[in-house]
Amino acid sequence: MEQTVGRFAPSPSGRMHLGNVFCALMAWLFCRQAGGRLILRIEDLDTARCKPTYTAQLVEDLNWLGLTWDEGGNLPGYRQSERSDYYSACLKKLQQQGVIYPCFCSRGELHAASAPHRSDGTFIYTGRCRNLTAQQRQVLFKQRQPAWRLAVPNKTICFCDQLQGEVSQDLATDCGDFILRRSDGVFAYQLAVVADDAAMGVTQVVRGKDLLASTPRQLLLYQLLGVKPPQFYHLPLLCSESGARLSKRDQSLDLGALRRQGITAQEILGRLAWLCGLQETFVPQTAQQLLANFNPQKLKREDIIVPADLFCAEKP
Ligand code: GLU
Repeated sequence: MEQTVGRFAPSPSGRMHLGNVFCALMAWLFCRQAGGRLILRIEDLDTARCKPTYTAQLVEDLNWLGLTWDEGGNLPGYRQSERSDYYSACLKKLQQQGVIYPCFCSRGELHAASAPHRSDGTFIYTGRCRNLTAQQRQVLFKQRQPAWRLAVPNKTICFCDQLQGEVSQDLATDCGDFILRRSDGVFAYQLAVVADDAAMGVTQVVRGKDLLASTPRQLLLYQLLGVKPPQFYHLPLLCSESGARLSKRDQSLDLGALRRQGITAQEILGRLAWLCGLQETFVPQTAQQLLANFNPQKLKREDIIVPADLFCAEKP
């Protein structure tokens, strides 16, 4: 049987919040339970938002939580910002297959009032640049740097998520031709994540349900790159009492604020495990203790509300 290779792939655009801790914990538990090797990859493509100090802090926070990895971390081969040559090679491979095309549309053209929307509110590209002639492209290349899009086929992609069950998406109508490289040269998440998971031999992807709708696009890329896709586990999202998904904006629940008020790593892990259904009570637990009792059947599938006062430190 092939060895499980899991990964945790955070974007260092701020201090880790509880949602990130939950993803890291679950990636760690699923991978360790399978006796796998866990990779820590830093997804810092967005250099305007991702800062080296956040990466250093992330590594320190994961160590503090006791969520260990076997490969990667804050190292050159594992920071996406330094892997552009490799993404270029993957893009070239797709170009040779004739499945990508340059898109010269400006922001205004993309956001034309008639543009249809996806369920997540983003625009579905109309395909305006898909059928330009070689001559038209040549003229436009002289005027501006294009983005590169993948021409999606007219087909439905289906897969079975290990936690969310059957998922299917008609790429042409639900998603449209999507960007692999932006016009400013930055590679898109969809390409980088598949290229890296493929290169690193990842067989198990555990991540938030916010990325479930991206998975069919990624499966198409696996197919085109000729790589066997991993198994996917899309976790429920953590939400505040108002129902909004926790994000880096909820600073009272980031690890900086939580650690300052004196909460321990075991208290955070124990309470998260209780919230997501893994433990009956919220007693403090180490990652190792949670692993000893880890039963994925108990894990909640629907989004999880975090009570505002649950993550206050125990009074001495
Ligand atoms: N880097 C993404 C994030 O921070 C996760 C990507 C993934 O797990 O596929 O949310």
